[in-house]
Amino acid sequence: MTDAPQATLGASRLAWRAAEALEIFSETPRVKTLRLRVPGWMGHRPGQHVDVRLTAEDGYQAERSYSIASGPRAEMPQREIIELTVERLGDGEVSPYLTDELRPGDRIELRGPIGGYFTWRIEDGGPLGLVAGGSGIVPLMAILRHRAAAARQVQAVLLDSSRRFEEIIYRKELERMVAEDSHLRVVHTLTREWPENWKGERRRIDSAMLQATLPAPAENPLLYVCGPTEMVESVATALVDLGHDPARVKTERFGPSGE
Ligand SMILES: Cc1cc2nc3c(=O)[nH]c(=O)nc-3n(C[C@H](O)[C@H](O)[C@H](O)COP(=O)(O)OP(=O)(O)OC[C@H]3O[C@@H](n4cnc5c(N)ncnc54)[C@H](O)[C@@H]3O)c2cc1C
Repeated sequence: MTDAPQATLGASRLAWRAAEALEIFSETPRVKTLRLRVPGWMGHRPGQHVDVRLTAEDGYQAERSYSIASGPRAEMPQREIIELTVERLGDGEVSPYLTDELRPGDRIELRGPIGGYFTWRIEDGGPLGLVAGGSGIVPLMAILRHRAAAARQVQAVLLDSSRRFEEIIYRKELERMVAEDSHLRVVHTLTREWPENWKGERRRIDSAMLQATLPAPAENPLLYVCGPTEMVESVATALVDLGHDPARVKTERFGPSGE
């Protein structure tokens, strides 16, 4: 009897739900944020994702995972509103539909929240070192939004890699966060092109950049790395080689490298 509530919760997380698109807005030329209402949503932890399922008229279905970009909100009606941020892949099956075809009022199916390992709770503390490649910033933004709302005293650094200045996701919101928060630092690196007066880094994330940017291993930081598979693997290896505790390095792989 004692495990009945848990069994119910597990079942409801796995159930597909109809979510209604409320608003869709551009973050960069290839990236959009979808604000969705998910009736019955019981909340999530920053870092978790959902599975999205699309069904064609002939019954063909395609399913992909998307991280939840919004921070958790306990109060209704905000609790049932979540945001996903999706990068359009030119030859993709699901992402072009979400970024180009979906309109406010449309419905998509999703289930979740999913994932317990790549999550952060206030009691996990810090210092936090967040390393993002492209859309890998999405679950890390959920962590930063949660931290901004509830735990600004936790030291945090975000090292964010984008191809070009125009492709930096959440750039303005990050600027605002940093301006209001002396415990938060954001470092951008651009890998393909940069404006003439660009003061940030200009290469792919490497060991020297990680060492110069993130809290030192002696501070025992909690490190979260998310992005294309190849980037996540090279960063995680470099972090361990630099002396970080492997048990404090959490990784989430979004898929093949887009480079
Ligand atoms: C846990 C998890 C969370 C994720 N969260 C997000 C998120 O918040 N935002 C987001 O935009 N994506 C996220 N993804 C990636 C997402 O699930 C899809 O893989 C992506 O949107 C591509 O799907 P598609 O159907 O458009 O492309 P597909 O039809 O699956 O693939 C089209 C082409 O793109 C390549 N490809 C597939 N995935 C990627 C990728 N991630 N990067 C570069 N090339 C790729 C394929 O090899 C193929 O050549 C996440 C993945 C995982 C596993």
